[in-house]
Amino acid sequence: MNYSNLFSERINNVPKSFIREILSLIQNDDIISFAGGLPNPDFFPVEEFRQASNKVLMDCDTDALQYTITEGYRPLREHISKRYKQKFNLDVPLEQILITSGSQQGIDLLAKVLMNKGDGLLIENPTYLAAIQSFIVYQPEFFPVSLQNDGPDLAEMEQILEKHDIKAFYSIPNFQNPTGLTYSDEKRRHIADLLKKHNTLLLVDDPYGDIRFEGTPAESFKNLYEHTILMGSFSKTVSPGCRLGWLVAPKEIYEKLYIAKQASDLHTSYLTQRIMAQFLDDHDLDQHVSKISDFYGKQKDAMIRAINEYLPDFVEYTKPEGGMFIWLTIREDMDALKLFRAAVEEGVAFVPGEPFFVNRKKKNTLRMNFTNVSEDVMMEGMKRLARAFQKVGYSK
Ligand code: PMP
Repeated sequence: MNYSNLFSERINNVPKSFIREILSLIQNDDIISFAGGLPNPDFFPVEEFRQASNKVLMDCDTDALQYTITEGYRPLREHISKRYKQKFNLDVPLEQILITSGSQQGIDLLAKVLMNKGDGLLIENPTYLAAIQSFIVYQPEFFPVSLQNDGPDLAEMEQILEKHDIKAFYSIPNFQNPTGLTYSDEKRRHIADLLKKHNTLLLVDDPYGDIRFEGTPAESFKNLYEHTILMGSFSKTVSPGCRLGWLVAPKEIYEKLYIAKQASDLHTSYLTQRIMAQFLDDHDLDQHVSKISDFYGKQKDAMIRAINEYLPDFVEYTKPEGGMFIWLTIREDMDALKLFRAAVEEGVAFVPGEPFFVNRKKKNTLRMNFTNVSEDVMMEGMKRLARAFQKVGYSK
């Protein structure tokens, strides 16, 4: 049987994850990697989870190993709702929270529920690679809007909204992946007005929002614009392996997401939800998050020092106030993929920026992760990257 004839058009359209392929190229211990997007495992609450698991399994008899409701464990949704109230003064009823298997599933469910082939979807340019992958399955027409240091280019956004029928805007307003950029409050208000005017749904993906190490917390879009869907995650604050995220959606949309979730996996792992809820009962998440943020802030500073010290002067970089990434731009005539190959030979890796762009691709960008290597190793990695710049003749 020729398997390749069997696949749906839907899946044949979707490219493999470029990052996973890159990561498989650099599975060598001698390579210093700025490529991954992994939270630092030193902050995983292993002992706390051991205790929480014991409690759940002692107290519950058999219940925690049973099937459960699609919406998700009520006390876990209560924790999420309470946090929105504390942080943003937002009232989020439990009936609007759907627990998902990571925010990645949130993106996938939204794509499934909202997108028909050819539907207009506004996205940031560049944007999160795996979101592009989730959306492509449902074959929307992408309309990328350029990102500036304080958020999307409003003139460009307005032009797209005026000219085309745009169903939704997929946005990562805080410490974006891949650029580390955050929208200013002023831009948030303009964007809310624009979307209101054009009756366009806003999909806010915010896995990094809690990891702020500088500046003041931004406003939640949900306070600015009624037709906003929020996606959140415990991946960067507690553990990505738990695969726990959530969606907040208005009632009518929630009902469709609920059906899509049921069709996809009935519900998110109940045992994991129970353990997470127990962990949140027994520990202060804000305290835990502030330890992570402090550390990441120092790591970000170290990376910027290393860039300034070792990389050529023409290299431009973003200055994130949170999250896990810095975005470098090299000269227009330079190719980050060529640099990447030389870098791997020198023993250092990053992610070339090209796959984060839909349509209007840029070849001269790099995504750098700063959460996972010590300062010494970071300095050594940057020296190696400087040698790669020289090797390909990009030093001046
Ligand atoms: N959205 C963005 C912008 C991300 O960077 C990630 C993870 N890298 C996700 C969603 C998915 O996160 P998770 O499924 O682990 O919650």
